Amino acid sequence: MWRCLTLYLVVSASAASDYYQRRAVLIEKSQNRSIGADLVLNADERKVNRLLMQLKHREFDAGFKDPEKFLPLRHFFLARDNITRSGVFKLIRQMPKGASLHSHDLGLVSDAYVFHNLTFRKNLWAKPDPEGRYTFRFSRTVPDDDGWEEVDALRRSDPSFDARLRAQLTLVVPDPFTAYSDIDVIWRVFEGVFRSVGSLLAFRPAFEDYFYRALEELHEDNVKYLEFRGLLPEVYDLDGRVYTPEEVLGLYDATATRFKRAHPDFVGVRFIYAPSRRVNASVVADYVALYERLHAGKYSKFLAGFDLVGQEDLGRTLLDFVPQLLTLGNRTKFFFHAGETDWSYEPSDLNLYDAVLLNATRIGHGYAILKHPELLRIVKERAIAIEVAPISNQVLKLVDDVRNHPANFLVANGYPVVIACDDPGLWGARGLSFDFYVAFMGLSGREGDLRLLKRLAINSIEYSSLDERRKRYAMKRWRQEWDQFVAGVIRSSETE
Ligand SMILES: [Zn+2]
Repeated sequence: MWRCLTLYLVVSASAASDYYQRRAVLIEKSQNRSIGADLVLNADERKVNRLLMQLKHREFDAGFKDPEKFLPLRHFFLARDNITRSGVFKLIRQMPKGASLHSHDLGLVSDAYVFHNLTFRKNLWAKPDPEGRYTFRFSRTVPDDDGWEEVDALRRSDPSFDARLRAQLTLVVPDPFTAYSDIDVIWRVFEGVFRSVGSLLAFRPAFEDYFYRALEELHEDNVKYLEFRGLLPEVYDLDGRVYTPEEVLGLYDATATRFKRAHPDFVGVRFIYAPSRRVNASVVADYVALYERLHAGKYSKFLAGFDLVGQEDLGRTLLDFVPQLLTLGNRTKFFFHAGETDWSYEPSDLNLYDAVLLNATRIGHGYAILKHPELLRIVKERAIAIEVAPISNQVLKLVDDVRNHPANFLVANGYPVVIACDDPGLWGARGLSFDFYVAFMGLSGREGDLRLLKRLAINSIEYSSLDERRKRYAMKRWRQEWDQFVAGVIRSSETE
C-alpha cells in the first residue's frame, strides 16, 4: 500500500509540475500578443520597469482586496484627486508620451483657466438662455440684440453668479450618477458647455490665449506634438472684424509657431477640420468645399484631415454623407469618430463600416468595434489606429468600470491603439497622463508593464499624420526624451 501511495505521489507531483508548466506557457503566450510585447527593454529600462511594476502591483493588490480602492473602477470625477497622488500616475506624468492625436478645440484647457483667465476680462457681456445657461460676447458697448448684461455688473449684483458660471464651464459635479442619468442627458449638458466656452473663445484674444494655454498644458504633461479637431468657428475682435475660417486656421498656426519659438522641444501642431455631423447633406457639401479651399490655401501644411463630430446616436451617419465624402476621396485623410456607442447594428455603430470603407487613417473611439470581427481584421491588417479615450468613454456614459472597456481586448491582442484625451478640460483632466494612467491600470490588467506605455507613446508618433521626414524627427526627439526619463527615474530612485 505504501508503494502505491509513493508512486501516486511521484506521478501526481510530476503531472502537476507538467501542468503548472503548461499553464505558465499558455499565460505567457497570451501575454506575448499584447501591445508592447514586441519591445525588448534595455538594462536601465528594466530597472524603471521594476519600480513601475512595484507601484502598479501595490495599487492592484490593494484594489483586489478592497475594490473601492481601485481607481479605474470609480468614476473619474470621484477618483481624480486620488489618481494625482498615485505613484504610477506620478511616473506617467514624467514620461514622454509623444503625441496627443484626438482632442477638440473647445475642450483642451482646464475650466479653472477658462473661468479665471477669460471671464474676468473687460468688455464681457453675458446672456442667459431659457434654462439659464450663458452665452458670452465681448464688446465695448452693449451688444445690439436684447438680453445682454455686463459680466462685471452681474458679479457685483449677484453673489451666486460666479458659482453658477463656473458650473457651466465643466461637466464635473459631485454626484455624476444622479446628475447624468443617461447618455443623452450628459450629451445635452456637454454640448451646452461647448456653447458657453465656444462663445468665450470666439473673441480673438481669448481664442489665442486659450490655444496657447492648451499647448502649455500639453507641454507640461510631456506631450510634444498635437493633432486636434476643430470646428473653425467665427472669431471676431473688438473692432468688429470677423475672421474667415481660413484666417481662423491661420490664428491657430501663428499661435502654434509662437509657442514653438518659446519651446523649441515642441514638435508642432496639425489640425483636423471636424464640423458638426448634425446637419443635412448640403451643409456637408459646403464643409467639403471649404476643406478643399483650405487644402489648396496658405495653411495646407497645417491641415491634417477631415472628420465630423457630435453625438453619433443622435446625429447623422457617415452613410448619409457618402457622396459628399467620396468627392474628397484620396485627397484627404479621414479621422472619423465612429462607433462611439454601446448600441450594436444601429446606425451609430455601423459608422464603423463607413469609416473603414472610406479609408479612415485613424478611427476616433471605435468603442463598438469588438462586435465586428471583419472590421477588427481589416483594422489590424491596414494598421488603422483606434483612438481610445477611456475617461471620455466613462464620463460620457459608455462604460462605468474601465476594466470592462472593450479596449482591454485591443490591448491584449496587439491592435493599433493610441491613447486619447478627447476633452480633458471639461472633466478636470489635463494633458494625456490621466488617460494613460486609466489605460495602464484599467485596460491592461495587472501585468501590462513599461513596454505597453513605451509602445503607446511610440504609436502616437507612428500613427500621426506627419510625413515620414517629420515622423523620423519627432521619433528622434522622443527617443532622447525617453532616455532622459529613464535615467532620471533611476537617479531619483537611487537618491531616495
Ligand atoms: Zn472626440
